[in-house]
Amino acid sequence: PAVLSARTVRKVYRTGEVPVEALRGVDLDLFAGEITALLGPSGSGKSTLLNILGGLDRPTEGQVLFQGDDIATASDRALTVYRRDHIGFVFQFYNLIPSLTARENVALVTEIAAHPMPPEEALALVGLAHRLDHFPAQLSGGEQQRVAIARAIAKRPDILLCDEPTGALDSRTGIKVLEAIETVNRELGTTTALITHNAGIADMAHRVVHFADGAIIRTHATGQRKRPT
Ligand code: ADP
Ligand code: ADP
Repeated sequence: PAVLSARTVRKVYRTGEVPVEALRGVDLDLFAGEITALLGPSGSGKSTLLNILGGLDRPTEGQVLFQGDDIATASDRALTVYRRDHIGFVFQFYNLIPSLTARENVALVTEIAAHPMPPEEALALVGLAHRLDHFPAQLSGGEQQRVAIARAIAKRPDILLCDEPTGALDSRTGIKVLEAIETVNRELGTTTALITHNAGIADMAHRVVHFADGAIIRTHATGQRKRPT
């Protein structure tokens, strides 16, 4: 079953002199327990769709369905609750607080969550049980991104949304970050969508969705095995 669905989602930005149609009526399902990769050239609308799926932005037209509700037309307050309780975000740059250790960065989120796991457990899941008391500057880029993943999943979100999580990393480190996302997906069953420019990274997902010019032009399954549900 689909956990989150976009239905004929259109997005027009009117911030510049001419309107930009970033999404031209997109349909996408994120299926329970799957990792979906969003692949495509820069400017094809991937981030716009991810932000809309995560309740960071609203579509101009169309629906975003989660547990029977349309997120697209929810109140600002309902959207805040949706993001807080159901969505974990990971971005290209880690946005860790430099003066806090890995454990403390994760604890900031678990303190306000309804059903969190201990920060140590989240960090162990991403392979950082030995880095709990390290500060961000003492960690490599790949490790910092794995702390950001631990922070995103420690509240046990239904959906993990990652915007170019490997974009700032070399390919070997990027694969390790993807392996951490796979572990989270396998152990917790977290439904995941991630944006990438890298076809090799995309092939580690269960399903790959190809974007071009504000539309989905193709979707294919990779043959990666999914966690039994
Ligand atoms: P991708 O993630 O595939 O690189 P984006 O979703 O970031 O694509 O961008 C899709 C299109 O929307 C691009 O033409 C981009 O310039 C435009 N765009 C994105 N965000 C904004 C914004 N806040 N205001 C105006 N145009 C935007
Ligand atoms: P990964 O491949 O998981 O990113 P590395 O093997 O690159 O990890 O790094 C392991 C360790 O090396 C880090 O914990 C850190 O102690 C040190 N290190 C590597 N890169 C950096 C960096 N840019 N700044 C500080 N420490 C680093």
